[in-house]
Amino acid sequence: MKARFSGTCPECGGQIKAGKEILKNSQEKWVHKACSDLQDEIP
Ligand SMILES: [Zn+2]
Repeated sequence: MKARFSGTCPECGGQIKAGKEILKNSQEKWVHKACSDLQDEIP
């Protein structure tokens, strides 16, 4: 999904800008889509 707010990605430490594609990882943290350790969004 797309980020509604800006924040920080706990995986890479980079900024997440509002409107960027993000995913929850296995620890229920919002990270960049490319940084998630899960495969993809739950269908
Ligand atoms: Zn990241």
